[in-house]
Amino acid sequence: MADLLFVAIFLAGFGVLFWYVVAAPRSQVLGKTLVCGPPDSGKIALTFDDGPGEATPLILDILKKAGIRATFFLCGQNVERFPIYARRIAEEGHEIGNHTYSHPRFLWKTPGRIAWEIERAQNVIAHHTGRQPKLFRPPYGIRWFGLFPILNRNQMRVIMWSVNSKDWRSPAPRIVSRVLRGVTPGAIILLHDGVPPHQSGDRNGTVEAVGEIVGTLGERYRFVPVSEMR
Ligand SMILES: [Zn+2]
Repeated sequence: MADLLFVAIFLAGFGVLFWYVVAAPRSQVLGKTLVCGPPDSGKIALTFDDGPGEATPLILDILKKAGIRATFFLCGQNVERFPIYARRIAEEGHEIGNHTYSHPRFLWKTPGRIAWEIERAQNVIAHHTGRQPKLFRPPYGIRWFGLFPILNRNQMRVIMWSVNSKDWRSPAPRIVSRVLRGVTPGAIILLHDGVPPHQSGDRNGTVEAVGEIVGTLGERYRFVPVSEMR
């Protein structure tokens, strides 16, 4: 009986540790990951994942009006669906990162599949925007064996986040309060302007929240693209 309990505790502990290694935003075990910028800079970064999508032009309008540049981690498949929005992101001076072609979980994926996802997205983004992303954000935040050598080969680095807005499952007021509560100097804020390929939903809550976040935090911080954090 005591043996069984020991095994159960060992397995549970191993599970928690394993999940930390591959999925915790702060984990540096599999490779170097940027979570936030220097705390003394007075800068923060808005980052938008899974786009482009129907909400992208609305978010671009808000950013343009506020004179703010952000970072967009694009899915290759969504760039093919909304090439005009992808081009607009680039033309308006925002930073573009790679968020894979089809948004898979990397868990248990082979290095070959991971490389295909990253390099195909890289080609699609370059074709439609003229940019070669240097930043990468893994879908669901999951890093896996073989990922970092592929990124090194493409001279790309992983950007995670310090504030998770959970905007894909929250109404605007909850998104705003989560971001305002979590923000610190150097914060990298996770938001979504699109929906992953083959999934459904809308980003109306995000659009509403971004207007308020930008208005409130603009008085205290300077918004910069992630690569201008340092
Ligand atoms: Zn995503």
